[in-house]
Amino acid sequence: MKTLNDFNFENKKALIRVDFNVPLNDAFEVTDATRIISAKPTIIKILEEGGSCILMSHLGRPKGVQAEFSLQHIVSKVEDILGVTVKFVDNCIGPVAEEAAQNLNPGEILLLENLRFHEEEKQGDKDFAEALSQLGDIYVNDAFGTAHRAHASTTIIAQFFPENKCFGHLLAQEIESINKVMETGEKPVLAVLGGAKVSSKITIIENILDKVDHLIIGGGMTFTFIKAQGGSVGDSICEDDKMELALDILKQAKAKNVQIHLPVDVLAANAFSNDADTQIIDVTQIPEGWQGLDAGPKSIESFHEVVMQSKTILWNGPLGVFEMENFAKGTIALGDSIAEATKNGAFSLVGGGDSVAAVKQFGFENKVSYVSTGGGAMLESLEGKTLPGIAAILE
Ligand code: AMP
Repeated sequence: MKTLNDFNFENKKALIRVDFNVPLNDAFEVTDATRIISAKPTIIKILEEGGSCILMSHLGRPKGVQAEFSLQHIVSKVEDILGVTVKFVDNCIGPVAEEAAQNLNPGEILLLENLRFHEEEKQGDKDFAEALSQLGDIYVNDAFGTAHRAHASTTIIAQFFPENKCFGHLLAQEIESINKVMETGEKPVLAVLGGAKVSSKITIIENILDKVDHLIIGGGMTFTFIKAQGGSVGDSICEDDKMELALDILKQAKAKNVQIHLPVDVLAANAFSNDADTQIIDVTQIPEGWQGLDAGPKSIESFHEVVMQSKTILWNGPLGVFEMENFAKGTIALGDSIAEATKNGAFSLVGGGDSVAAVKQFGFENKVSYVSTGGGAMLESLEGKTLPGIAAILE
């Protein structure tokens, strides 16, 4: 696996695919700069070695050239974070980009306009990738958030740098973190899968059964498993067409010696509302008119024990409807348990879909070992897929 350490960037132009797809408010100000901050170590390392950086990214989902999706909006934020002046060109290919790249001196940064202003980016167009490749000497992929897409700048471009391509610090860290859970994790290995639906997590569950010793299933997925085993789930979210699959998963887990932990009690509500009446009830005895929206106290306690005995922990998906304050307790308690286990030496990785939002909202970000920067890319990694952006560097 080639990383930044395999190259000397002195007098070289690094063409770096970053993920600067950051949220902007109505005044086009960056409201969450995490992705820019995450790319900083790679950029600074190259500049300090005497190289220059040409940064390419997408922003949003523009249809052709649309001013509101211009990366010009983020230039000053990038400068603030990196502490270096950032030059900008309003096209990522063509004479303007080529001239700006040619004139770039060691220690300087050039940001290219939104890659997706050209539809060839998402099409994975080879000519477009080749045009981009003209700009730099070494291709660095540091965009985990788009590594699951075979786009021109994330995948196709790598073929024009047969020797001179590598992972940036961020992408290398993401790969190492996933490997720590999926390949080399110290036992016992635990995965906590929450969230809304079995159907969106099924491939992950099936892949993960070969990797873990314990699997906690929480959130809305719980009820498909409970009903499949004969429990009453009332009006809780439940995918009847996935009940057989749920039973099959339980069977597979037994055969593979994986211990599955489901909630034993839930906080049920008489409406999907923060103001609903609530009761704590056995997960198998939820009456009609009531729905389980969070883990109950006995479940929280038993999950705590499982977490505390685990040495490697993967967390994907909340244990309840954490967006509503009254149903966030289970998710917060789980975060507390994982933070405590991490403090005691366990490795913990949080990622995929909405989990990162929950972790940030409740302040667990710095209390777990690693928070992934990629939603879809993380989910596909957990499904056992080789991401095209990663494969293109390894080839
Ligand atoms: P996912 O993107 O699959 O991780 O799902 C996250 C969503 O699952 C969040 O928006 C939660 O509100 C939702 N969720 C968690 N627990 C439940 C539940 N018991 N009933 C309904 N939705 C839930």
